[in-house]
Amino acid sequence: MSEVSVTKDAGGPGPATDKLVVLDNVNKHFGALHVLQDIELTVARGEVVVVIGPSGSGKSTLCRTINRLETVDSGRVTIDDKPLPEEGKELAKLRADVGMVFQSFNLFAHKTVLENVTLGQVKVRKTDKQAAETKARALLDRVGVGNQADKYPAQLSGGQQQRVAIARALAMDPKVMLFDEPTSALDPEMINEVLEVMQQLARDGMTMVVVTHEMGFARSAANRVVFMADGRIVEEATPDQFFSNPRSDRAKDFLSKIL
Ligand code: ADP
Ligand code: MG
Repeated sequence: MSEVSVTKDAGGPGPATDKLVVLDNVNKHFGALHVLQDIELTVARGEVVVVIGPSGSGKSTLCRTINRLETVDSGRVTIDDKPLPEEGKELAKLRADVGMVFQSFNLFAHKTVLENVTLGQVKVRKTDKQAAETKARALLDRVGVGNQADKYPAQLSGGQQQRVAIARALAMDPKVMLFDEPTSALDPEMINEVLEVMQQLARDGMTMVVVTHEMGFARSAANRVVFMADGRIVEEATPDQFFSNPRSDRAKDFLSKIL
């Protein structure tokens, strides 16, 4: 996988123009709160989209609708042109196609690192155990924790655990990776080791949706920045455009607080 290299601005026909994730007029409420309002978002294959915005603006909910951890009230979410399945085996497969990495690392505490990265392959992808372990070891090497395979999550630092979580998601050969504030719970000195793994993934051509406050990452890895406020996508632009010349007052205000 790491041999694959994709030029992001290649343009032209072929996979680079392929719409992998599409949210079409998506609305969602939590009781009286209209948390996602008329969301239109398309993520092309190989594209890296960074979602930013104030706390409570609906970024996590948006991510969670993409792998159906949340249902929508109206509109459509499709992955590779297929609507999201309701439940059962098809839903499990969909979730494997959409890798997700959360702020809290969510590893299985009672399984070793190797088991964490092997389990889903065997259960959902029906890979045989030996092949799954070989692949798990290769992925653990790739994210720089190959020598931690036999430890338990609690024996690892936060940065190492988050890299294991990335390896675990990658083990399912996802079509797209969602990252919801993957470095927010980390001690500062561990943020870069996780961002570097994500940078490398982006360079390798992985399709990614990343919610983050790490503006350096957004500038260097994103093809597009999506700015959300109050449940709406207020602005979409290239990182250069967005950071140098935000159009909306909401974005200007937000940037003035974090930069
Ligand atoms: P963000 O990730 O941008 O901080 P969220 O998507 O987590 O925003 O939340 C958006 C809004 O929806 C917030 O006001 C939050 O309190 C509310 N919310 C999120 N999840 C739920 C839930 N399960 N039930 C009720 N309200 C929720
Ligand atoms: Mg959130």
